[in-house]
Amino acid sequence: MLVVLKKGSTDQDIQTVLDKIKQCGLNGHVSCGVERTVIGVVGQVFPDLQGMLELMTPVDDVIPISKPYKLSSREFQPEKTTIKVGNVTIGGGDIVVMAGPCAVENEQQLLETARAVKAAGANILRGGAFKPSTSPYSFRGLGEDGLKILASARDETGLPVITEVMTPKDVDLVARYADIIQVGARNMQNFILLEEVGKTQKPIMLKRGMAATIQEWLLSAEYILAQGNRQLMLCERGIRTFETYTRNTMDISAIPVINKVSHLPIIADPSHGTGKWYLVTPLAMAAVAAGADGLIIEVHPNPDSALKDGAQSLTFDNFANLMSQVGALASLVSRNPR
Ligand code: PEP
Ligand code: MN
Repeated sequence: MLVVLKKGSTDQDIQTVLDKIKQCGLNGHVSCGVERTVIGVVGQVFPDLQGMLELMTPVDDVIPISKPYKLSSREFQPEKTTIKVGNVTIGGGDIVVMAGPCAVENEQQLLETARAVKAAGANILRGGAFKPSTSPYSFRGLGEDGLKILASARDETGLPVITEVMTPKDVDLVARYADIIQVGARNMQNFILLEEVGKTQKPIMLKRGMAATIQEWLLSAEYILAQGNRQLMLCERGIRTFETYTRNTMDISAIPVINKVSHLPIIADPSHGTGKWYLVTPLAMAAVAAGADGLIIEVHPNPDSALKDGAQSLTFDNFANLMSQVGALASLVSRNPR
């Protein structure tokens, strides 16, 4: 339910309405837009609530939100969310590029990659320290040692880092090192983890589950937003279909859909979306043309010897080529390459 406040309402007015919502056992989330201040009411709303709130002096209107997802919807917040990470703004019109290896393997591999992706124009360094792995026998990541290597690459290059957290017990640890915390596809519906990352003050990137509908994905986003963390972006990384030629089917249509129904920035991951390195640049271009706010790309000094996801990793030269193609496209579609 959306409570629209009268123009010129004061902080005191907002508080009065929030107190009332709390008394009813519900939570209010304030969105101060350019045009209006609204309070999103989430929880089990009851039939009399609308009439009760409508009678309050600071309230202009009370509108039920038609979608099951609330705080992530454009109805709640018409303006796009922007997230500042270092000197990069995600969701502000620039195409933000995150790049790096699937997994942090050792210091040299990460530093070399960090320098190369920075030189090619990447804005954020990616690298997994805790790796979700379909097989328990494949590389599972270096854990905290990997986080330390990410931090030293950030110190040297100035690139903020994004890395995945897999379990609620590691959220504090990962938050100490990461500039953006990634929740992976396999954990999109790990609701306890979603709530835990929602309690941090860190930007979060929530990947789409491999068999999740857009609505399920946005409902997962609600778990994070409802904890008060509004620095949330989504990531389309391909979904399971009957097609086996590619690792996943990159759902490009999800990008304009998210832009229509949600204010959350949307990042595209054509590496996991295709599973094949030569498909990464074409799908990156398609994602940018479709309105993605950024890309996350796997890059490795020597993909053939990568411990993880080598087949979909770009060499430094291929990544530089992607960057120049994306840069050219961005200006055509009225976006700014960063
Ligand atoms: C990753 O980013 O390396 C990863 C494991 O991605 P996903 O959760 O999309 O499979
Ligand atoms: Mn990977």
